[in-house]
Amino acid sequence: MNKVRTRFAPSPTGRMHVGNLRTALYAYLIAKHEDGDFMLRIEDTDQERFVDGALDIIYRTLEKTGLIHDEGPDKDGGVGPYVQSERNASGLYLKYAKQLIEQGDAYYCFCDKERLESLRTSVSENGVEIVNYDKHCLHLSKEEIEANLAEGKPYVIRINMPTEGITTFHDEIYGDISVPNAELDDMILIKSDGYPTYNFANVIDDHLMGITHVVRGNEYLSSAPKYNRLYEAFGWEVPVYVHCPLITDENHKKLSKRCGHSSYEDLLEQGYVSEAIVNYVALLGWCPEGTQEIFSLPELVKEFDYRHMSKSPAVFDTAKLKWMNGEY
Ligand code: GLU
Ligand code: ZN
Repeated sequence: MNKVRTRFAPSPTGRMHVGNLRTALYAYLIAKHEDGDFMLRIEDTDQERFVDGALDIIYRTLEKTGLIHDEGPDKDGGVGPYVQSERNASGLYLKYAKQLIEQGDAYYCFCDKERLESLRTSVSENGVEIVNYDKHCLHLSKEEIEANLAEGKPYVIRINMPTEGITTFHDEIYGDISVPNAELDDMILIKSDGYPTYNFANVIDDHLMGITHVVRGNEYLSSAPKYNRLYEAFGWEVPVYVHCPLITDENHKKLSKRCGHSSYEDLLEQGYVSEAIVNYVALLGWCPEGTQEIFSLPELVKEFDYRHMSKSPAVFDTAKLKWMNGEY
């Protein structure tokens, strides 16, 4: 079997929410349980969402919790994280998008905002709102494309999705997910600002970094079937996907980054010790086999098995965290 390689791929958009910490921890545990490698990748291609100071919080949290990455580009005499904006500067993602264009699997789209807006509001014969892109630019001639490019017309690059058949995507926690291809949009790979979209950069990097297990929040589950098409077009092996269940508050409402009290730093400020937070977070959605509830990080490495993760939402319950905190 190949060496297990996982990554934590945060976007620097705020504090490290317990959900982010859990994703990082599970990715770390899955790799370390098998003596594998854990990597860190900063997903900062959405420049509008970038928050100052967020990167430092990510680095500090991973350091304090002991989730140290193994590999990355040389930086300041150490092992740096993979950073997508730096990778983009070398033209990496555009190169792969152009390969897809040459293969006929992707195409330039020059549609302006007004045209895209009109698609969104037009209604098909059976009264269903059309939300997918209508492949208008797929049918441009070579000459038209060249003229548009020469004119400097802004463009995006889209994938050419099949319109018939069914795509089945497998997730280790949620099982097989089947989607009619007609529902899969010709998603954008490269945006008009030249940056890759989150989904495209994610797939390219997971492949180039040799990731065997993709661990992330279940909010990404619905976009995952679209990845099949990219893997197929490149002829790459699809990694194992592990989407982690939702975390809710005690009222069963989704814990969000915005409810400010549940980041790692907030919990430290409230007097919880780091080990208790990590221990507590590990049990949010994973059920150990025995009755032990207090685990050190090396014990978690030994015991953790993603096959014992649950797909039902986990409740973030401070009473339990308080109890654990007393045990440290
Ligand atoms: N960059 C995404 C986030 O910050 C995670 C994506 C992934 O792990 O695939 O939520
Ligand atoms: Zn178009």
